[in-house]
Amino acid sequence: MSARRIAALLAVLALAAAAPAQAQFRLDLNRLVDTAKNIGKATGEIAEKEEIEIGSDMAARLLGAAPLAADEALQRYVNQVGRWLASQTERPDLPWKFGVLEAPQLNAFATPGGNIFVTRGLVAQMNNEAELAGVLAHEIVHVLKKHHLKAIQKTAQVELANTAVTTFARQDRNTPAREKLLAAGSELYSRGLDKSDELEADRLGVVIAARGGYDAYGLPAVLQTLQAMNPEDSGLALMFKTHPAPAERLEALEKMQPTLDAYAAQKQLAARFAGTARR
Ligand SMILES: [Zn+2]
Repeated sequence: MSARRIAALLAVLALAAAAPAQAQFRLDLNRLVDTAKNIGKATGEIAEKEEIEIGSDMAARLLGAAPLAADEALQRYVNQVGRWLASQTERPDLPWKFGVLEAPQLNAFATPGGNIFVTRGLVAQMNNEAELAGVLAHEIVHVLKKHHLKAIQKTAQVELANTAVTTFARQDRNTPAREKLLAAGSELYSRGLDKSDELEADRLGVVIAARGGYDAYGLPAVLQTLQAMNPEDSGLALMFKTHPAPAERLEALEKMQPTLDAYAAQKQLAARFAGTARR
């Protein structure tokens, strides 16, 4: 193993060790090696079992950067809202997990297989449960439509194809595949998805929140809050880098006006939200 490879491996292990208490999102390096090799070979759809494994590993890695908030009531509450929404989608049986990250930045993201995170900073900007539901529903769509999975697969396949002949022929077969997959995943979470994926998540997210019985304007309300904030705010940097501008997302949602208006009178649950998320 070269010194550079050892350094990369140590970096991965350090990330894994940074989240020892977060057992439900544990990073399994051996499994990740197998997954990376399979992704490199895969030409079509990735099996659901593998989708879930990839997502758990990505979640564990991301949790190394920001831990879950130490607030059981809040975590339980966000899981209740999220699982209620997910239960009414076409993939109700995924092992859905929702978590609030202890981070002041404003962001939310999903990993394949049903791991969804929202930062404490973003929750602090919300006014009611319908807004929380809107954000969670947007992330649920990324999982349903396999937006991240497909993007990671595409990147990993291209990179593995480029190195397969030279590197896989050598004795050290595993390390390059693992590095490629982790690198593809990390890069994706700092670069963001395609704009069309984000706008689809907004459109279908509104529908899922409405189906869950919430005021359909929850997500647009959060986008309006973001739009009204100072774009120079450092807490918005990653969100703005990885998503289209709030104004553009709101404009795209104007096509949803009939749906939004039809379900605007549904529940907002401001008091229940304040009781748990605003303590
Ligand atoms: Zn998104």
